[in-house]
Amino acid sequence: MKSALLIDDDPIVRKVLSNTLSAAGWAVHEARDGEEGIQAALRHRPDAVICDLLMPRCNGFQVCRSLREKAAELPGLKIIVTTHRGFATDRLNAFESGADHYLVKPILAEDILRLLEGRDAVKASPSGPPGTPAPPAQLPPGNLLRFWGVRGSIPTPGPTTVFYGGNTTCVEVRADGQLIVLDSGSGIRLLGNHLASEFKGRALELTLLLSHTHWDHIQGFPFFAPAYVANNLVRIMGYEGYRKGLESTLAVQMESNYFPIGLRQLPSSIIFSEQREMDFSIGPVRVRSIFVNHPGVCVGYRLDTSTGSIAFLPDHESYARMRLHPRAGGEKGQQTLDYCRAEDQKLIEFLRDVDVLILDAQYDEAEYQTHIGWGHSCYEDSVATALAAGVRQLCLFHHDPLHDDARISRIVAHARDLVSSHGSSMTVEAAREGLEIPLLKPKPA
Ligand SMILES: [Zn+2]
Ligand SMILES: [Zn+2]
Repeated sequence: MKSALLIDDDPIVRKVLSNTLSAAGWAVHEARDGEEGIQAALRHRPDAVICDLLMPRCNGFQVCRSLREKAAELPGLKIIVTTHRGFATDRLNAFESGADHYLVKPILAEDILRLLEGRDAVKASPSGPPGTPAPPAQLPPGNLLRFWGVRGSIPTPGPTTVFYGGNTTCVEVRADGQLIVLDSGSGIRLLGNHLASEFKGRALELTLLLSHTHWDHIQGFPFFAPAYVANNLVRIMGYEGYRKGLESTLAVQMESNYFPIGLRQLPSSIIFSEQREMDFSIGPVRVRSIFVNHPGVCVGYRLDTSTGSIAFLPDHESYARMRLHPRAGGEKGQQTLDYCRAEDQKLIEFLRDVDVLILDAQYDEAEYQTHIGWGHSCYEDSVATALAAGVRQLCLFHHDPLHDDARISRIVAHARDLVSSHGSSMTVEAAREGLEIPLLKPKPA
């Protein structure tokens, strides 16, 4: 005689199912919660388990996983998960946990018997129907960059940040027919909405270029509307982190503990392209990378377009300033000094003559004294770096969450004083949401 185990905290559900199965000739065991259910499964070794999803003392996902781990003791076990909810993510997670079937209550006796007797062995597909292919949208002519998120560390909304904005890192670049998005902090949500209204259903192709995967640089991606449109292509480029690859790091923040839709459930085509070289291209745009001084694997990018160059270094701490600081050990000796200067010089050469430099300027010099080794610069160093590299326009970036609009304006004013006291014509701005910078330099002959 075949046997089934019913695991459900609702005695009425157990009774109804028990009567149905007994009448069909099955031996039936019952358990009142997940923990009791696992014990009962090991004791009775049933042919099938019918398990509720949400129960006290061990939920149905955990029951599935636990029973599948003991596959040697429970060969050929069929697991049917039952639930009062039809969320796609629950269904997917149940299958991933080891369920064979997923039924939404109320359950018909006929459905249960059909599944138990193998008359319907097909698992429900978690994915939807494929979209209709359409040609990708053409970008309007003209190269430019636009800021959608300029804040560091954590979004900082509120009345004191409305001018510069409270969203974390995201910059849009349109150049030479390419749509390139630099980082996907919370600002990418606004960009996504803007793209949706601009392109109105026409298929989009874009490249998301990630400096690193600290949360303030990826946290907006789950809210990026174009990722939810079936015909769109989102290419994600960046470098492998210290432990996991780019894809798994991005997928983790969309695991069901944190977000209701998994990365691989998004309808758009998402392609990961992990870079191995420091020099590559996105269409006709040449991209060069440099490892910067920031905890973990973090890069800065330089994009050379037909009408100007952009460098994007959202998170970086001036190297010599950090190594030589008394509170960081105050390393001395000519050799160390030379090494530190050479490191900073390497960055200056990387930035040489760039048209627009977007550079970490989270602190002022006084604040920096209590943030040594946090991976961010004071704006005085950012100005000095930009001047040394012959940059045309500097955008102070990654504003500290503690800095309100008035404070950032004072920083810009002082940064401009520093530039003019140096006799330079370099333009300085603090990056702000909505600021648009056209790239107008004529092509070299
Ligand atoms: Zn950051
Ligand atoms: Zn960071």
